[in-house]
Amino acid sequence: MVAAGFDVEKIREDFPVLKQTIHGKPLVYFDSAATAQKPYAVIEAIRKFYEVDCANIHRGVHELSQRSTAAYEETRVKAKRFLNARSKNEIVFVRGATEGINLVTSTWGRQAVKEGDEIVISALEHHSNIVPWQMLCEEKSAKLRVIPMNDRGELLLDEYEKLLSPRTRMVAVGHVSNALGTINPVHKIIEMAHEAGALTLIDGAQAAPHMKVDVQELDADFYTFSGHKVFGPTGIGVLFGKLKLLNAMPPYQGGGDMIRTVTFEKTTYNEVPYKFEAGTPNIASGIGLGAALDYATHIGLDKIAAYEHELLVYGTKALSKIPGLKMIGTAREKAAVLSFVIEGIHPHDIGTVLDRMAIAVRTGHHCAQPVMDWFHIPATTRASLAFYNTKAEIDLLVEGLRKVKEVFD
Ligand code: PLP
Repeated sequence: MVAAGFDVEKIREDFPVLKQTIHGKPLVYFDSAATAQKPYAVIEAIRKFYEVDCANIHRGVHELSQRSTAAYEETRVKAKRFLNARSKNEIVFVRGATEGINLVTSTWGRQAVKEGDEIVISALEHHSNIVPWQMLCEEKSAKLRVIPMNDRGELLLDEYEKLLSPRTRMVAVGHVSNALGTINPVHKIIEMAHEAGALTLIDGAQAAPHMKVDVQELDADFYTFSGHKVFGPTGIGVLFGKLKLLNAMPPYQGGGDMIRTVTFEKTTYNEVPYKFEAGTPNIASGIGLGAALDYATHIGLDKIAAYEHELLVYGTKALSKIPGLKMIGTAREKAAVLSFVIEGIHPHDIGTVLDRMAIAVRTGHHCAQPVMDWFHIPATTRASLAFYNTKAEIDLLVEGLRKVKEVFD
């Protein structure tokens, strides 16, 4: 069965990268969790900016500047709709999820976190949702607490409950794990954090490309994602923050655009979100991100999620037939990530042999070393899927893995 109304062959036509051959074979791209491919609509939006509209934004009265400003700011409105934020002013442009988290630790964190306070993260986090909190805790003599997981890669909510206390200032967790694909029960996690009087930050880097996100329904205080993983360009991302919180936070970086008035004695700051956006931003990528959000919305996040789930079920079953293959991450709620090890063969060797067959997978710790440590493995091979992948490509992966086994057995 193919998810209703989902024409994958037609969708593939929109992605020029997928049309090439590698080592003489058609490319099979299974590395979308690292970065997703870009449709023509995104490439075209960037080309048009540089070819037709190119100017700096927010400060010019001339036509090109006004066009560029309008196109860039239109993405803010699109991101507001994409996340169902209350106001476009709750959308702060950043370089990506990494910067979104660092912005919160360096502004809200510096102001709100005091000695003896606690920050809760989870055992499933990407390094970008560990290290900034660790740095903040070190600076403030605060404590980092970690929600443990079970051997499926699911967070233990009863253990989480025990970690919450009046000292908890922030609960920062990923919506979807990049290493295992686990979809965390963020709605519940947020509710529990709020009951304990803590704020929440959701790292949506791996959720935004694959499912409908509604920050109002979640009641998330902060939510961040990267443009390049939602089929947009690199160098741009979004940090959503509740307006009340953003208004109370000190600025992030100093410079042009984030100010209202400057004298040598005193500077007053611009309003939110511009207060957090110092300097010339990545204008072209911002405009490209708008095209990407339109593209994904037009296909429909619900349709995307249903189709990818079909691929996940198909892929999980197909890979289970490979002797010696062990799936790492078997959560009951899972996005289309197939992370696995094969007995006796190093993931880098698997990745190298698959590359010769034009199959692009990622091998390593996936910037989630604590997850690897938990499973007592140094690395996995990860095939991460997107809505432009097909069951036929999964068959090629299975065939490729059989060849890998022949080479190394
Ligand atoms: N969080 C998760 C779960 C990720 O998978 C990634 C990237 O792989 C990030 C954060 C960081 O994203 P970026 O490098 O785009 O800032």
